[in-house]
Amino acid sequence: MKTLIKNGTIVTASDTFQADILIDGEQIALLGRDLSDGDATVIDATGKLLLPGGIDVHTHLDMPFGGTFSSDDFFTGHQAAAFGGTTSHIDFVIQNKGHSLRQAVDEWHAKAQGKAAIDYGFHVAITDLTEDVLAEIPSLVQAGIPSLKLFMAYKGVLQVDDTTLFRTMQVAAQHGMLVMVHAENGDAIAELIKQHLAQGHTAPKYHAITRPAIAEAEATGRAIAMAGMTGATLYVVHMSCEESIEQLVLGRAKGFNVMGESCVQYMFLFEQDLDKPGREGAKLVCSPPLRQPKDAPVIWQALRDGTLQVVSTDHCPFWFDGSQPGRKPGKELGADSFDKIPNGVPGIEDRMGVMWHHGVNGGRMSANRFVEITSTNPAKIFGLYPRKGTIAIGADADILVWNPDKEYTISAANLHGAIDYSLYEGMVIRGGADQVLLRGHLLVDGGAWTGQRGAGQFLHRNAHAAIL
Ligand SMILES: [Zn+2]
Repeated sequence: MKTLIKNGTIVTASDTFQADILIDGEQIALLGRDLSDGDATVIDATGKLLLPGGIDVHTHLDMPFGGTFSSDDFFTGHQAAAFGGTTSHIDFVIQNKGHSLRQAVDEWHAKAQGKAAIDYGFHVAITDLTEDVLAEIPSLVQAGIPSLKLFMAYKGVLQVDDTTLFRTMQVAAQHGMLVMVHAENGDAIAELIKQHLAQGHTAPKYHAITRPAIAEAEATGRAIAMAGMTGATLYVVHMSCEESIEQLVLGRAKGFNVMGESCVQYMFLFEQDLDKPGREGAKLVCSPPLRQPKDAPVIWQALRDGTLQVVSTDHCPFWFDGSQPGRKPGKELGADSFDKIPNGVPGIEDRMGVMWHHGVNGGRMSANRFVEITSTNPAKIFGLYPRKGTIAIGADADILVWNPDKEYTISAANLHGAIDYSLYEGMVIRGGADQVLLRGHLLVDGGAWTGQRGAGQFLHRNAHAAIL
């Protein structure tokens, strides 16, 4: 099977140039001017840009949380991703307490089995570090999972103590593995939640009030210090505010191997939005919580200047109204109190469009930098490059035929995942994918689904990935 994409302009993290792309099988075989091949199916990309498929390294599909599961499984989440121009993602395996890491990984493989429609990898979140589990960590490298996650929040559920974090970092440093942290001071937050509930404070806005920015900054600084002590490579997920980004700047200035990501929502929605009438604020409950308007320009600047390397979504959708037939319970679980609202927001379908429109069209970054933070850096940091993350000979043919003139309005009614609301309802976007290819196969063609359930492949990733 051959495909020839003609007359487009290729945009990578480093270059912009006009060339045709010949795809042979699942890889890019040739880049050049005026290519022809009698056997190839031709896609005319005149006036279009050709971008590497998006890679979202922070997602939670079919994830257990607070007595329910995130609403997207490995099929609906993948369809949503593909329509938005994301062709690979890395999801978090969560170790159940008492289980081995192998058991946890097997459980997540089963979730994806027969459903996956885009390529997917896993990180493993350690919640219960016994001596056996510690000894098991290096085996994850052979399993193609060279990244670990530790939660410094969610006390009594996912949170680990500093001993666990420190010992995991030591082992990770020895084996070329990456350590990711959810950085919030869970002990302090647990006390604040108790105190506010005791005062009858149950509205959604108290979710943010009990998780102040300084609690994120403190945990970020603590994790960075431990990365410095152990020599581990650290990647701080979902950095939401100026206070924590300051800690990252300090750590990088000291020469520690520390990197960070932010998520789209932190640039567009703020703490004040949690105080909308009724239970509307429940839609916006995620952790870390939405912050202040002053944080958005700081995040944009950090994404632009390289302080932050990646923009992801932390896609962890829950139905706003999960009481309807066929739905898993959702945000209504927290109807009586903010601490019962499942934490998470949808975003996997919106990331590429929103970042393109507000980043590139908005004059905040070049198209090359957009490619870098949505695809190339995710591939490099997480051991997928150069198979993924760029348009080059020999790379997987994960290609977006990107129409910079395509205009649409984001609305829940048009989304493809299992979700009944959008964070960006009514936002007008210019720029989107007309065609989406994964390893040479068309997933989306002019707004129609042409992908295949079960065709997504597990990404066996390399250790010793880049430090950017
Ligand atoms: Zn997350």
